[in-house]
Amino acid sequence: MLFDTHAHLHFPEFAADLPAVIQRARAAGVRWMLTIGTNLETSRAAVALADQESDLYAAIGIHPHDASEANEVAVDELQRVAESSPRVVAIGEMGLDFFRNLSPRDVQVEVFRRQLALARRLGKPALIHCREAHPETLEILRVEGVREVGGIMHCFSGDAAVARQCLDLGLFLSLAGPVTYPSARKLAEVAKLVPQDRLVVETDCPFLPPQPYRGKRNEPAYLAITAARVAELKGVPVEELGPLMATNALTLLGIQPPPGR
Ligand SMILES: [Zn+2]
Ligand SMILES: [Zn+2]
Repeated sequence: MLFDTHAHLHFPEFAADLPAVIQRARAAGVRWMLTIGTNLETSRAAVALADQESDLYAAIGIHPHDASEANEVAVDELQRVAESSPRVVAIGEMGLDFFRNLSPRDVQVEVFRRQLALARRLGKPALIHCREAHPETLEILRVEGVREVGGIMHCFSGDAAVARQCLDLGLFLSLAGPVTYPSARKLAEVAKLVPQDRLVVETDCPFLPPQPYRGKRNEPAYLAITAARVAELKGVPVEELGPLMATNALTLLGIQPPPGR
């Protein structure tokens, strides 16, 4: 039993065959999926999809790439979207991306801080996107009190030292397809270091497929490959680690597991 903690299933890449994608996910043991908004429009689409599918939940937020298009009232509007459905279980993705810099850095910082304040106001965990901006991101998370609501460093891309700082802030770390790449020595070290009760996995689909599917569209069914690699690195059977990581996600997101677990 696996939980894909970061997917973009409402993106156009899945418009033609989403029911088949969800079927394959179920067949591969992916029992829960969190579909993630990146601006107001895709956040509304994430909620609409989660309202229809029993194994899907939604997170709503403004990605750093989209920060420059978020106006003064965008975060207020996010709050209305969050309050529109019980399927909204987290705020994000939000954060800093100093690799692509698609929005000016000061605007990214401002929109990130406002969303962390929203997460605190709503008492929902924060889903953090961070690329080439670890010191700045960690400082903002500290100042804005992320510890109060908890959160996930999604598609973790830092080293062991950054991982330790995230753990100190009370965050979960999420590993994605890149941990399966033969060159991923840093991520292998991180997988070994993070305690089982602070680890989750994700696809970030349609992006970042695991090794056998590189260059293709990613989908939740491939989470089994990433989970198997993480389990191998930790020296634990995936049949054990998968449900443990799913329980971590269910607990953080406040989702009731089905009876019998
Ligand atoms: Zn991201
Ligand atoms: Zn994403």
